[in-house]
Amino acid sequence: MTELSATPEGVLSNVEVDTVENLVIVGSGPAGYTAAIYAARANLSPLLITGFQDGGIPGGQLMTTTHVENFPGFPDGILGPELMDRCKAQALRWGTRLVEADAEAIDLSQRPFRITAEGRNIESQAVILATGASANRLHLPSEERFWSRGISACAICDGATPQFRNEELAVVGGGDSACEEAGYLTKYGSHVHLIVRGDKLRASAAMADRVLANPSITVQWNSQVVEASGSDTWMSGITLRDTSSGASRDLPVRGLFYAIGHTPNTRLVCGQLEVDAKGYLITRPGRPETSLEGVYAAGDVADAEWRQGITAAGSGCQAALAAERWLSHHGLAVTVQREAVEPGAVGEQRRTAVSDEANFDPDALWQKGGYALRKLYHDSKRPLLVVYTSPSCGPCHVLKPQLKRVLEELGGRAQGVEIDIEADQDIAVQAGVSGTPTVQLFFRKELQQQWKGVKQRSEFRQAIDALL
Ligand code: NDP
Repeated sequence: MTELSATPEGVLSNVEVDTVENLVIVGSGPAGYTAAIYAARANLSPLLITGFQDGGIPGGQLMTTTHVENFPGFPDGILGPELMDRCKAQALRWGTRLVEADAEAIDLSQRPFRITAEGRNIESQAVILATGASANRLHLPSEERFWSRGISACAICDGATPQFRNEELAVVGGGDSACEEAGYLTKYGSHVHLIVRGDKLRASAAMADRVLANPSITVQWNSQVVEASGSDTWMSGITLRDTSSGASRDLPVRGLFYAIGHTPNTRLVCGQLEVDAKGYLITRPGRPETSLEGVYAAGDVADAEWRQGITAAGSGCQAALAAERWLSHHGLAVTVQREAVEPGAVGEQRRTAVSDEANFDPDALWQKGGYALRKLYHDSKRPLLVVYTSPSCGPCHVLKPQLKRVLEELGGRAQGVEIDIEADQDIAVQAGVSGTPTVQLFFRKELQQQWKGVKQRSEFRQAIDALL
């Protein structure tokens, strides 16, 4: 058996695996990580495929939320990305191994089951599907034209971009997400319109009340967005159709944010497991077993109704316990002895300080702020990755460690700077940043390449290698 090598963070490097896993968990939201915590503590040494771009981002929907106020144990609320960081740290602490990539294929037609990720085949006796659900789009005729030029699926990621400052903005949807995002956007826009297709909000009473009491938000009832318009560079308005009278009207807004629900990520198991009319996995009532023995579902992929972080976590626990029982009942589990009976404490994450004259280091791999950017841009002879982030942007949170890993692998031959676009607005305007995360690669004062959103490490690595 080839030994699995793990980095200190538990992330598997590209090694050949010729062993059969006990349990592979696909998905890294609250369901996936909770399943991993339980399975790891049962000495099953689970392998968790986090997902990367397919079906959202690692960490799931909580990565694009601000304050989670209803997860028990956090009386003052907790930021969604921070909650997911904690779940991940807890799963790793107990010995979960991660593959930070998308699952490319899942073959449930043979046992052990086969999952392909990062180009290699992984065999597993049992599988927990915790792939969640992806944000829906309206598919307006001009959607592609104005995507990232006014239209966004993530207010929390893109709200702080300069183009939205003191402008009228619109959020479409009437659920908790829409209400949360409308409230969040009042920090940046001059006024926010909440476009609701019916005559009531579906959101929980606490969220709905907050919206209705906010003078900076106007609810446009019985309204459907039918088109967006604007110049080549940015959207400047939307057309609404009244759902009762059919009449059309224009609303001049510079931003349109979608919060219109989700579709379950079941593409990889389509035709192999029973799904309902909307594509959600069907499980035994109140239980995690899918239509195929040894395959379990957890979280939003099988839940069209409750869809809460806490219900996802609860179902992840059920799935892991059910998988453990099934594996031991059939004598399939090969349990591992954890190295330490009591694993070490996780501790707090260190934050990068903003560089200034006193602490700027011309050779540091990673620094933060406008001072470091100006110094490195003018003086550094090395390729320079600049990542533009905003404080509550979950995808930024996912991307930063990936970029740091690329720079570490390059051993100092390239450097990185993080710019918080809220703290350094002028720089964001100058750089033409229209959403976060945005990454720009500079070499000898020339912009070489730009990426928007979360991308694989290999893309950054190849672009830098080409310059070296
Ligand atoms: P929901 O499915 O709850 O709401 C979707 C909203 O979008 C509905 O109001 C729906 O309208 C509207 N909609 C759907 N399709 C269209 C369309 N084509 N045109 C216009 N409007 C449309 O999704 P959410 O993302 O808001 O919430 C998902 C889950 O996550 C929920 O369980 C929610 O409670 C939870 N959540 C909790 C949060 C918190 O507690 N902090 C924050 C965010 C989400 P209609 O009502 O007419 O069907």
